[in-house]
Amino acid sequence: QRNADIQVFIKDRLYPRSEAKVSVFDSSVQGGDAVWEGLRVYPEGIVCLEKHLERLHQSAKTLAFTDIPSKSFIRDAIKQTLEANKMTNDTHIRLTLTRGEKITSGMDPRLNQNGSCLIVLAEWKPLVYDNAGGIKVISSSQRRNGPQYLDSKIHHNNLLNNILAKIQANIAGKDAGLMLDERGFVAELNGSNLFMVKGEAVFTPYANACLPGITRDTVISLCKQHGIAIYEADLSLSQFINADGVFATGTMGELTPVIEIDGRQISKQNELMEKIRNIFSDSIRNLCEPLI
Ligand code: PMP
Repeated sequence: QRNADIQVFIKDRLYPRSEAKVSVFDSSVQGGDAVWEGLRVYPEGIVCLEKHLERLHQSAKTLAFTDIPSKSFIRDAIKQTLEANKMTNDTHIRLTLTRGEKITSGMDPRLNQNGSCLIVLAEWKPLVYDNAGGIKVISSSQRRNGPQYLDSKIHHNNLLNNILAKIQANIAGKDAGLMLDERGFVAELNGSNLFMVKGEAVFTPYANACLPGITRDTVISLCKQHGIAIYEADLSLSQFINADGVFATGTMGELTPVIEIDGRQISKQNELMEKIRNIFSDSIRNLCEPLI
């Protein structure tokens, strides 16, 4: 197994996988009290690194973490981890920042007196859905939370509603759960954002009840740069089912066609969708940022 003897950075240094552990008193164990980012490594660097570090920072600030490590500290930790593992490609990094170890069990952040805990877990991983050709999804009864409950703009580790949506998809034998917001409009898949093509235009849900994905952001910018009409909108399930093309976006899967929603087929052959996927693949190397 290629990931069997990887080195993992925890708090201030690297540990072999067998010793890479956090305390049972850590806030992530005690209450899912942590924030995270998923990064992708190419030989040219890490895709949109600065944006990921900024989102991590903003999520931690929103949750009132104290002593958030600086971006340069995190960059250095990532560099050390990649170098120790000789990873330059086919690598996914799970960057986690927990509120840290508590002096006694409980949810109260005042019990965190030892500072936050950074985890850089780099693993050999191909893109999810690589070679799959397209994914099949079901709409989930699990709603994606909007800002009135737990702001979806915080990229936190409290992933249970997304996990429940994924369980529903698993039981149905599909790849992902499509989550609606509490008004019934499409929010996102359980782990990626959604876009649809209709005629000459591209649409994506407002980032009200979905993660404001960095890949989503890239696709919106690339469409604008290439003169493709792109709109954020309230979009219903019916609009997605009757779209000319649907695709999911995320760092782990980049752009993946959605070929089925609730048993209805969606065409995989759409010229505009193909054009956007090609523009994205042509741009990905330029979006990479070296660590130094
Ligand atoms: N939505 C959710 C719920 C996610 O967890 C992710 C991946 N972290 C995304 C969307 C995609 O975001 P990004 O493009 O920043 O990877």
